[in-house]
Amino acid sequence: MADVTLRHIYKVYDGGVRAVNDFDLDIKDQEFVVFVGPSGCGKSTTLRMIAGLEEITAGQLYIDGELMNEVEPKNRDIAMVFQSYALYPHMTVYANMAFGLKLRHTPKDEIDRRVKEAAEILEISDLLSRKPKALSGGQRQRVALGRTIVRQPKVFLLDEPLSNLDAKLRVSMRSEITKLHEKLGTTFIYVTHDQTEAMTMGNRIVVMKNGFIQQADTPITLFEDPCNLFVATFLGSPQMNIVEAELFMDGKTLKAKLNDRDDMVVSFPDIKAKQLASKEYIGKKVLLGIRPEHIRPNEGNLKAFIDVVEHLGDESILYCKMENRKEQFIIKIPFNSKIRANADINVEFNMDHVYLFDADTHKAIMGIPHEDEIPVNIDKNVMTMGEQEFTLDEQFTKHLLDASFNANVKLAIKPDYISIEEVPDSLAVKAKLEFVEQKTDYQAVYFSLKGLDGYFAIKMANDQEVKLGKEVTLYLPYRRLNVYDVEHNKTNSREDIFENRGEAIVNNVNGQMHVKVGGATLVYPENPDYPNGKYDIVFKQDKLVPIFNRKMLKNSDRENPEMDNPKNKIKVYAYDEDVLGDKIAAYVQVEGFDYYATFVMKNNFSVYKMPKFELYVPQDGFVLIPKE
Ligand code: ADP
Repeated sequence: MADVTLRHIYKVYDGGVRAVNDFDLDIKDQEFVVFVGPSGCGKSTTLRMIAGLEEITAGQLYIDGELMNEVEPKNRDIAMVFQSYALYPHMTVYANMAFGLKLRHTPKDEIDRRVKEAAEILEISDLLSRKPKALSGGQRQRVALGRTIVRQPKVFLLDEPLSNLDAKLRVSMRSEITKLHEKLGTTFIYVTHDQTEAMTMGNRIVVMKNGFIQQADTPITLFEDPCNLFVATFLGSPQMNIVEAELFMDGKTLKAKLNDRDDMVVSFPDIKAKQLASKEYIGKKVLLGIRPEHIRPNEGNLKAFIDVVEHLGDESILYCKMENRKEQFIIKIPFNSKIRANADINVEFNMDHVYLFDADTHKAIMGIPHEDEIPVNIDKNVMTMGEQEFTLDEQFTKHLLDASFNANVKLAIKPDYISIEEVPDSLAVKAKLEFVEQKTDYQAVYFSLKGLDGYFAIKMANDQEVKLGKEVTLYLPYRRLNVYDVEHNKTNSREDIFENRGEAIVNNVNGQMHVKVGGATLVYPENPDYPNGKYDIVFKQDKLVPIFNRKMLKNSDRENPEMDNPKNKIKVYAYDEDVLGDKIAAYVQVEGFDYYATFVMKNNFSVYKMPKFELYVPQDGFVLIPKE
């Protein structure tokens, strides 16, 4: 039994493939967590890092509170079941299951007890004397599981264990594994690319894409509240329909015009309209999503043409085209043999179940957000949020990049992390409870903040009492807070940020200013403000540009031609980087500096591809402060 905690885990393979980025997740004891996503999204890499089969590039892995990064796989008390079950063909089922324990010199009677117990759990007691070739695929997979169970690990890792089985067997093994999890009461982490497997097996699902967690939640919440277009269309079968829509107000009612057609207009119920993330979306093009089961045929005013019908026994799937529209629209209804293809129908959207997504970012913009975002201003350690003012925790401000200060930034936090009970090391924000929407697994509770537009949503347990209009204090743990700039780049970092400050010597020669920093000499036109002498030099975080070597140059989009062989450059050595969005923060050593310096640059560069590199220093890339 064990908790598994992944803290900001990164994996960069040799050659620079970023397989996993900022993977942050708390897996509770006895949970059954499924990692799901398309091939290549980083699921197996993450699992292998937990198992210790792959080194963790950055971040921390804890099992039961103990740091595991450097612990040998065999000492992690973890067992992994792979896709290919690799049983020893010459050994009996019993011997296959006992083998690992024998290697560990477990006493014979103990081995016997554990093998028999595992065989009973898996209902393979009568197969113990057989050899693998006399077993079916499903039975072999059970033996592979048995071999793992006898080791009594704290955590089970399963990497696509069912993908070699035929479809029917896969379905029955799914429920076998779910039952096994219940019987053993052990933490399970299961990897699959199959959304149905994920939806039916996990207590919690982690949806991944391109090495990033997209959303981690219960199956039903992912289904009801996908945080973006990817999650929305990845889960659910047939998948969610997506149409272009333009939002507008008709009196007090929020409406959407579909596909630019005046005769295709839908209206949002009030409770939905209130949940629109920002009024700025009104008048704009967005994407509207609706699941096939939430469209009703033969009602309403939207015209459609039925292209193909599939009658599946208990349900009928209609592949339709909306008038003048090429894309298909799928409708799922209870079985109805009267509905035929090649016919016109009217349809109606169930507007209680409509989703909206930003046309560019593809983020969900109606309903409980993936992250609440509140506009704030930060000046040194003082943050203003509407009419409220806070003195920020020192530890928190140490992680803020320069771009966080006195700029248009947003403070962000996932609704799951906000508490109405006091928690240590958190920001206490006063808010007024405005309205509530019931969900299957929780209630979405919306608050307003004094002096700010819009709402701020949190998740509360279904049985927690809520009073509309009540003033409450919400606690936002510092360690869960993010800060974003207007382009949605993170401006808080994983690492402590020190001022990029070191020593420099200015020497003016023949109308040129020579600035000596460490081993480098930077040359600029002479400036009367800086006579010869000793200075402190402070490099600006976002003004220096990495100079690419030939290999990196090949696939870069550098604009600055001056950069091909610039004279003004410093040599740095990086120890890590943090992905901020379109940018990265590189943590580097600069000769002559006491602390690490931080440089923010475009993410076409990675220190993992080039840990030793040079930075071009433009004239406006630093300030000089005379030494007393
Ligand atoms: P998934 O399990 O979701 O299919 P993986 O974790 O296997 O994804 O792979 C994630 C990314 O890392 C992919 O782009 C893959 O090509 C790359 N990758 C996996 N293993 C290695 C390796 N040993 N060396 C370099 N790149 C790798």
